[in-house]
Amino acid sequence: MSLVTELRLGRLTVRGASLGGLYTALHVPELDLLLDAGLPLRGGATARRLLLTHAHLDHLGALPALLGMRGMMGGGDKPLEVLCPRGVEGGLRESLRHLSALHAWPLDVTARPLDAGDEVELRPGLWLRALPAYHPVPTLGYLVFERVEKLKPHLRGLPAEEIKALKRAASAEGGAEGGAEGRAESPFDVEERPLLAYLTDTLPEALKRSPAAMRARVLILECTFLNDVKPVRVARAGCHIHLDELEPLAPLIEAEAVVLMHFSQIHKPSEVRALCEARLRPHLGARLHLLLPPPEQGDRWWL
Ligand SMILES: [Zn+2]
Ligand SMILES: [Zn+2]
Repeated sequence: MSLVTELRLGRLTVRGASLGGLYTALHVPELDLLLDAGLPLRGGATARRLLLTHAHLDHLGALPALLGMRGMMGGGDKPLEVLCPRGVEGGLRESLRHLSALHAWPLDVTARPLDAGDEVELRPGLWLRALPAYHPVPTLGYLVFERVEKLKPHLRGLPAEEIKALKRAASAEGGAEGGAEGRAESPFDVEERPLLAYLTDTLPEALKRSPAAMRARVLILECTFLNDVKPVRVARAGCHIHLDELEPLAPLIEAEAVVLMHFSQIHKPSEVRALCEARLRPHLGARLHLLLPPPEQGDRWWL
């Protein structure tokens, strides 16, 4: 029996488990990315990068175990690159230094602190942007997007050689070919195509602040509380999303797949399913996905 859940969502696979306050860890193999490390996912132990939303232990606590696995699996000719909110990197390096000494084996990472709005090129044409999130400790969301060059409409039909010449002129630094700024205008418009958005441990305002996240092909979003057992007031006090606040936003979400996760353990999986189906299926239809344990697990959480 699988200990994690796998969702196949078009071009992307999302594998992992998530239970609010207890553990959240996902792996997206096509992007070579881990999203948080609240469980040590063996299948993702040799991934190139970890996007850490914040340093609460249900998102960070299993990082040492993951790095131990990585060492065992010969992973990483390079250390894991951890992208994290600014301010987290120091404590992360320091705590791993102590654990490395105890373990008598290096648990190295490359920690790269980010502020909201910062961008990182993951591989040619594929970018990451840190998104603002609202939680009691420094927290970021993440958007992975493709940056695609499209020929400007008025240049369509031009011979390839002429387009190449325009491109050369635009990239030439200074020189006689350049325009007023020493550089000709590019023949291309740059288009951003949002591929994956990841927002957890945040107030729903984070979604409104980042419209591109709502247009991503896959949006992974927390929805910790679902009914009046913990009302909106309680959810907001802990900076989490409540279903009552998500439902009115659902019609604005254009994502091809919306994955909800980080449900509180006060709700059983069957209850999560019933409540989300009733409130969100009418808005999202087949685009709604719930990160719940596989059916053979019965009505119990993963761990
Ligand atoms: Zn959490
Ligand atoms: Zn948290």
